[in-house]
Amino acid sequence: MLKAQEGEILKTAFLANLSHEIRTPLNGILGFTDVLSYYLEDNNELTQYLNLIKTSGKQLLGILSDVLVMSKIEAGQIELKKDNIYLDKFLQEIYIFFLPQAKIHALKLVIEKDNTRETCCVIADAIRLRQVIDNLINNALKFTKEGEIKFGYLIKEDQIHFFVKDTGIGIDPEHHDKIFERFQQVEQDYLKNFNGIGLGLAICKSLVEIMGGRIGIKSEINKGSEFYFSIPYIKGTNIEENINEKINKKKNAISKILIVDDEPINLILLEEIIKTEFGDVILTATNGKEAVKQCLNNENINLVLIDIKMPVMNGIEATKIIKEKRPELIIIAQSAYNAQSDKKNAIQAGCNDFISKPIQKYDLVNMIKKHIFFEVEIM
Ligand code: ADP
Repeated sequence: MLKAQEGEILKTAFLANLSHEIRTPLNGILGFTDVLSYYLEDNNELTQYLNLIKTSGKQLLGILSDVLVMSKIEAGQIELKKDNIYLDKFLQEIYIFFLPQAKIHALKLVIEKDNTRETCCVIADAIRLRQVIDNLINNALKFTKEGEIKFGYLIKEDQIHFFVKDTGIGIDPEHHDKIFERFQQVEQDYLKNFNGIGLGLAICKSLVEIMGGRIGIKSEINKGSEFYFSIPYIKGTNIEENINEKINKKKNAISKILIVDDEPINLILLEEIIKTEFGDVILTATNGKEAVKQCLNNENINLVLIDIKMPVMNGIEATKIIKEKRPELIIIAQSAYNAQSDKKNAIQAGCNDFISKPIQKYDLVNMIKKHIFFEVEIM
C-alpha cells in the first residue's frame, strides 16, 4: 500500500476515535438540555438559553461528522450499500424530520414526487443519499428567510433526478463552481452571520460522484437556488406488493425497560428521558452480563436499551445470549460511534433497532413507541 494512502487511513481511524471521544461528553450536554427543557417549560428566558446550548451542540456534532465523512472520502473508505429504497416513503421521512425547523422559520416545506409512477423502489445507498439531501435542505433552511423549500425527484430514462429548491438569498453565478470545493464559502458581508466550515457541498459533490452521478446548481442572487443531482436509476423490488405486510396495532403496555450503560451520566440521562415520557418503568444494569441476568430472570422486561461498548460483557455479546432465550424481547442498541459497522453488528446480533449518541429525546421516545405500540409483522 502506498505511504500516502496508509497515512489517509490512519488519519481516518484517528478521527473516528476522536469523534467517539467527543460524542460521549456531547451526548451528556445535549441530552441533559432536553431533560432541563422539560423541567423549565414555563421559564421562557432560561429555555431560550438552553436552546442556544442545544443549537451550538448540534452544530458541533455536524462539524464533527462532516470532518469525519470528508476524511473517509479522501481515504477512499466509502463503501456503498445496496438498499431497497421506497423513494416516496424515504422523502416523507425527510419531510417529517425537517418540518419543525421549517415551521420555526415560517417557511413552507413541499415535497414533489414523481407522480408518473405508483410506488417507486430503487436500489441505492440510503444513508449516503440521505446525507446529500439533508445537507442541501439544511443549507436551504439556513439561507432562506421567507418563502418555500421544495424538494423531490423525477425519474427519466436511466437516471433519478433529485432537486432541492429554495427562495432564499441565492448565489452569484461567479461563485457557482467554487462552492463545491472544500472550505469554500461565498464571502459576502451579509453571510458573516451564517456559520459552517464550507465542507457540506464538497461532501455532497463527492458522495454524488461516488454514487455515479453529478451535482449542479442554478441560482440567482435574491431569487433563490436550485441544487440538483442525478444518480443512476436501478429498479428495486416492491416487497410490500409481494408479501402480505400486516400492521398489527396491538397496544402492548410497557412493563419494564432495562437500560444498560456503563457511563453513569448516560444512565441518568436515559432514565430521565424515559421517566418523563413513560413513567416509572426503568431498571438499570452497567454491563452486558448483568443485563443478561436481569432479562432471563424478569419476564416483565419488554424492552432493552443497550450500549455496545461496555466492560465485562459488551452489548453485542449480551444481545446474542438474550435473543437466544427471549427472541421476542425488543432490544435497541445505542452507541457513541456513528459507524455503520456498529449498526450492522448490532442488527446481526439480533437487535431490533439502533440509535446513535448523542441521543435526542424525540428520536428515542419515537423509537420506543414504534416498537412497543406498533408491531409490524411481515408474513
Ligand atoms: P457551509 O457548511 O459553510 O454552509 P457548504 O459547502 O454547505 O458550507 O456551502 C458553501 C457555501 O455555499 C455557503 O457558505 C453559502 O455561501 C453557499 N450556499 C450553499 N447553499 C446555499 C443556498 N441554498 N443558498 C444560498 N447560498 C448557499
